Amino acid sequence: MNIRPQHGHFINAEYVDPAKGNYLDSINPDDQSVVTQIAAGSVEDVDAAVTSAAAAQPAWGDMRPLERGKILARIGRALEERIQEFAAVESAEMGVPPLAAAAAMTTASNYFQYYGGLAASLQGEYIPVGPEQHSYTVHEPYGVVGVITPWNAPLNQACRSTAPALAAGNAVIHKPSEYTSATALMFAEMAAEAGLPEGVLNVVTGVGPEVGEALVRHEGVGKVAFTGSLRAGREIGKIAAEKVMPVTLEMGGKSPDIIFEDADLQAALPGALFAFIANSGQVCLAGTRLLVQRSIAEKFSQMMAAAAAKVPVGRDKPFPNLGPIANEMQFNKVLDYFEIAEKEGAKLLTGGRRAEGEGLENGFYVEPTVYVDVSNEMRIAREEVFGPVGVIIPFDTEEDAVAIANDSPYGLAAGLWTRDVSRAHRVAGRLQAGQIYVNYYIEGGVEHPLGGYKQSGIGREKGLMALREYTQTKNIILKL
Ligand code: NDP
Repeated sequence: MNIRPQHGHFINAEYVDPAKGNYLDSINPDDQSVVTQIAAGSVEDVDAAVTSAAAAQPAWGDMRPLERGKILARIGRALEERIQEFAAVESAEMGVPPLAAAAAMTTASNYFQYYGGLAASLQGEYIPVGPEQHSYTVHEPYGVVGVITPWNAPLNQACRSTAPALAAGNAVIHKPSEYTSATALMFAEMAAEAGLPEGVLNVVTGVGPEVGEALVRHEGVGKVAFTGSLRAGREIGKIAAEKVMPVTLEMGGKSPDIIFEDADLQAALPGALFAFIANSGQVCLAGTRLLVQRSIAEKFSQMMAAAAAKVPVGRDKPFPNLGPIANEMQFNKVLDYFEIAEKEGAKLLTGGRRAEGEGLENGFYVEPTVYVDVSNEMRIAREEVFGPVGVIIPFDTEEDAVAIANDSPYGLAAGLWTRDVSRAHRVAGRLQAGQIYVNYYIEGGVEHPLGGYKQSGIGREKGLMALREYTQTKNIILKL
């Protein structure tokens, strides 16, 4: 694997040592070896990045959008040519199996190619008010945008926010997760080589409550896009409220996946399994609450448990396999939820423990897990576990399914499986979630707008809508 043993911050198109001189180990969750070291940032480092970004932004914002877009598309293509290299690093840092890592790199590349193409589309409007005034709108960048991302899909999530922010003419300071910073740094370095002007994309690494919070608090930062936990999102939201600064918050969920008795079970079974085990369950969109119509609940539960038990566990096992949980903190959290589920009286059908076997000894592996006899009030049905854990809850009627699905503090995504087209539209219309999947689950395409209802978040990422999220609208009125 081609990786530097130590990474400084990437500021003004070069690696710089952290002001305090401290570094953190990045640990491979497959075997606990050290992958690389990343800078432990501080307020001083954030200051330096904001100075660099603020100096670079006016020229970047003034550049003809078509030309700006060409540079972004070129960065996307540069990543496309180095997918295997980036995928190997992400797989080492995060534990994601190589095939899935390569797919995530393709998506990351797509964000830059897609938003590069859209950069010139940010047109304003002419507002008709009669012959005595000329009124129009323009969409202007915020200036410096902070992007804070988690560890579960590191470069994919980074590019998801960074590409539209840059396309809209902002300069960006990215704070990746302390567990998985290497691909973000490599990416910023590659972007500079591909022609992105100095200071337009900076990466400052370190721990959230220190460097992340300093970024959010900084008066030179005009907007923050955050992806991660509800806990951290709330903290960021509070600071943003004090500053009166706009934020995009993407904070996960406990998404329902509804299987009606008329569903094509040949498709629903693997689809619903993938929905909660993909990326070892570490997906904000994961369909972890399986609502199954009572007439098929017993049979479906047994089939699901058998299918889950067959999934190969091990990062380098044959596809479709499960990698480790991405870090020790999260691994312990998943093991805690196994105890919580048992104490709450959920019935374990398969899994529910650390995975053992050859090659797994030093990794943060857990078995794919299925619980039945779960009520929607249990913590295992309400809280985001972020592990390969599905809970099965029976329902009787369409109305019951919708009521249980919507009885959650979250509302990021939902799935439903049925052969009845009218029901599909009816139920999709009533589910309180930002993205609904009918007869499949999890959409990775960059064109679809994504964001939460309720406590899953504020604002939208992806698609055309996200481009506007990185601009503010100015109305100009001339008296004629
Ligand atoms: P966090 O929300 O804590 O981390 C996400 C990002 O925010 C990281 O870059 C983190 O930095 C940073 N951060 C943390 N606290 C602050 C703060 N006060 N101010 C500014 N930035 C901050 O997620 P965790 O890694 O702690 O994971 C905890 C739980 O969150 C998981 O168990 C999972 O349930 C959920 N989660 C949800 C995700 C989603 O996409 N919905 C993604 C990841 C986690 P650092 O890494 O340095 O702490």
